[in-house]
Amino acid sequence: MIRENEVFEDLLWRLSRVYSDIDKAPIHLHEPEFSDTEKEYLSNCIDSGFVSSVGKYVEEFEDCIARYTGSKYAVSVVNGTSALQLALASSDLPKGSEILIPSMSFVATANAAVHGGFIPHFVNSNEKSLGIDPIKLEAYLNKISHYSGKSLTNINTGRVISAIIPMHCFGHPVELESLTTICEKFRLTIIEDAAEALGSFNLSHHCGTQSHCGILSFNGNKIVTTGGGGAILTNNQDLYLRAKHLSTTARISQSTEFEHDEIGYNFRMPSINAALGLGQMKTLEDKITRKRNLALKLIKNNEEFKHGYFYKERDGCCSNYWLNTLILHPDVAFLREKIIKFLNANKIFARPCWKPLHLLPMFRESPRDNLKQTEGLVNRIINVPSSPQLYKP
Ligand SMILES: *Cc1c(COP(=O)(O)O)cnc(C)c1O
Repeated sequence: MIRENEVFEDLLWRLSRVYSDIDKAPIHLHEPEFSDTEKEYLSNCIDSGFVSSVGKYVEEFEDCIARYTGSKYAVSVVNGTSALQLALASSDLPKGSEILIPSMSFVATANAAVHGGFIPHFVNSNEKSLGIDPIKLEAYLNKISHYSGKSLTNINTGRVISAIIPMHCFGHPVELESLTTICEKFRLTIIEDAAEALGSFNLSHHCGTQSHCGILSFNGNKIVTTGGGGAILTNNQDLYLRAKHLSTTARISQSTEFEHDEIGYNFRMPSINAALGLGQMKTLEDKITRKRNLALKLIKNNEEFKHGYFYKERDGCCSNYWLNTLILHPDVAFLREKIIKFLNANKIFARPCWKPLHLLPMFRESPRDNLKQTEGLVNRIINVPSSPQLYKP
């Protein structure tokens, strides 16, 4: 017999010990934090008059992101979704091919594939990394694919499977080594959705830098924000040049006329957003330290919680803990909605994990593995407030 109220009260008590300001105000999921540096850069940017696509801040911000992540190149764009779209468009993937995507992701991952003319093909995530399950992936591909010519073909649909987009869920690095081995075997291009993972490292490599390319998001709820923004990370010069070219209406820069050599995008980040982002980067290290300390406190204070646990980074990973994640034990998964409502009523704005993408109406016909594992996992996940400001030593 589970006494529901006891579960709710016990969890609230444990969280109240971590969120010590709970009496003051509602505790939001993830709030941005600004310093005087941002105000100074924004003011300089406005004074210069160059707030849009021309201006020094874009280049400085891109250099800063490349240096911090250890990526050879960074291209900043208007948001994370457009970064994904541009990464796909710059990667020479056959149009109309299928792209493997974890069903447990934000809808943007699959939307970008569709906008680019590809077909999302959903695969499972596991509890170990919260990202794509390498064992399930390999077994599934062995079952449903074969080589025809130089490419991998889905024997059920007849379409090429060209790429995979592992997503570093809530900032936690995916099992990239295993996934890379599988992708080499099946010749799949890896594009990492590291939208949530700025400041997360796997074996001291920054997320999004150890494959064909990766993307970041600088949306308002992410660890660093430019208001809206995103970036492509890559070590591949051809991809970098192509992404830059496509993002600026495919204009031939050497030409004095308005000459464009293909259908491009208008995806470049404006300088005013880059100015904000550059200021934000100055305090990133400090934000990560506080977020990691907050995560540690949540993990420690819930060690004795009988009905679930807080996700902890895997060995070899150093996570930014973008969103702290309570994983309920399967026998209380049915209480998830009630727990979230209870916490919200007590001014802690917890939220459920995204609805699995394969269950959304627009993806009803999309190809997929058996996703019972994903559905089971999603139904046990509750994200709790994770802003760096919430950490009090
Ligand atoms: C935030 C996010 C994106 C998209 O970023 P936007 O900047 O909001 O377009 C993509 N994928 C994941 C997993 C995200 O969390």
